[in-house]
Amino acid sequence: SLASRDVKSLIHSYTNLSAHEKEGPLIIETGKGIYVYDDNGKEYIEGLAGLWCTSFGFGEQELIDAAIRQMHKLPYYHSFASKSTEPGILLAEKLLEIAPGNLSKVFFANSGSEANDTVVKLVWYYNNSRGLPKKKKIISRQKAYHGVTVAAASMTGLPPLHNDFDLPIQNILHTSCPHYYRFGKDGESEEDFATRMATELEELILREGPDTVAAFIAEPVMGAGGVIVPPKGYFQKIQAVLKKYDVLMVADEVICGFGRTGNMWGSETLGIQPDILSCAKALSSAYLPIAAVLVSEDIFRGMVKQSEKHGAFAHGYTYSGHPVPAAVALRTLELMEERNMVEHVQAIAPLFEKRFQALADHPLVGEVRVCGLVGAVELVADKATRQSFDPSLGLAANAVKAMQDAGLIARAVAGDNVALCPPLIITEDQINDMFDKFEQGLNAVL
Ligand code: PLP
Repeated sequence: SLASRDVKSLIHSYTNLSAHEKEGPLIIETGKGIYVYDDNGKEYIEGLAGLWCTSFGFGEQELIDAAIRQMHKLPYYHSFASKSTEPGILLAEKLLEIAPGNLSKVFFANSGSEANDTVVKLVWYYNNSRGLPKKKKIISRQKAYHGVTVAAASMTGLPPLHNDFDLPIQNILHTSCPHYYRFGKDGESEEDFATRMATELEELILREGPDTVAAFIAEPVMGAGGVIVPPKGYFQKIQAVLKKYDVLMVADEVICGFGRTGNMWGSETLGIQPDILSCAKALSSAYLPIAAVLVSEDIFRGMVKQSEKHGAFAHGYTYSGHPVPAAVALRTLELMEERNMVEHVQAIAPLFEKRFQALADHPLVGEVRVCGLVGAVELVADKATRQSFDPSLGLAANAVKAMQDAGLIARAVAGDNVALCPPLIITEDQINDMFDKFEQGLNAVL
């Protein structure tokens, strides 16, 4: 069978390889709208838009056509040595047109991890250009997810991504995770908690020496760390600290970008003014791999200065600005406007939130966290004390399995959190159907 051939031949990402040898894969064969179908024809709502990415669902003909058109015209070219193609230029322009704040140039990569690896190199390169060779440390946060390449995984703040991979590398630090439910102190208001988070960041910068700290990186809403929405005012307080010590603000918009939080960017929703922004995933509705790093004019000028010293900017991927994914991404961004996707998210997000919040009364649910069309429930053994379940029970993973049986693909993240992040095209009826299946899954592990 295809399943046994999978077990014989494939190494799976983020999979218990030992269990996989016994249980085998779920093989997805086709997709349409918010649904995917396995090789037995069973239908599933893709409640996580694949991996938080297929914003237009599956089978969007406009995106398929854009790829085919570009394939016929020019199936590949690169951006090395001043070469360029129209889709890359138009996509860069479009990104800058919709970008938050003062971002002025675009560099293309193929994945969120590559984009964030590029961020690390650009931050170091920029500070060398400024004659600040000591200012190299990058501060991320516990529970952050920034990808899996060596530098991106180092910035990720989840221990399983470091354990036995000999990470993190030097110059990457982690500060506290702004999760009030878990880390707020007794009697502390959310606002006081946000202030404490900023104070802890300032103390870390002072301990390390401000002349050694280059950048702070954050997802507006943490995704894989459990869909953690920071308390109100958090980023304003954090950015005040960063400004004080000349530390760059990097927004990782790999999940939050392109409408997910109810605005085009998570930075808009959460009040971030980034000096650097990384994005990927929904940039092309995930139909082809593409990612981008947007930088401020100051940073770009630093890079130009380095070229005067070294010659070529010695960074870039064979597929940076590949014309086919760039054409698909451009069409994705056009469709977002033509179909008023941000307004659509704003219109349906209240129902998504209402159905999520209703789960707060479920006996297993300790906390519900929602922002726009992304959310999660945190399962707890004791609602009053917030005590977690014994991790060996794998309760969230079991709930997700039961949801899958019911015809919903959801995802267990960072312990006992179950996340939903459906295609943005989802309708109200489909949201209700999705939550009915979600509840069925939770009830199955009661
Ligand atoms: N940054 C964030 C916020 C992500 O959620 C992810 C992936 O989930 C990444 C970076 C890494 O992206 P990729 O898997 O495309 O390398």
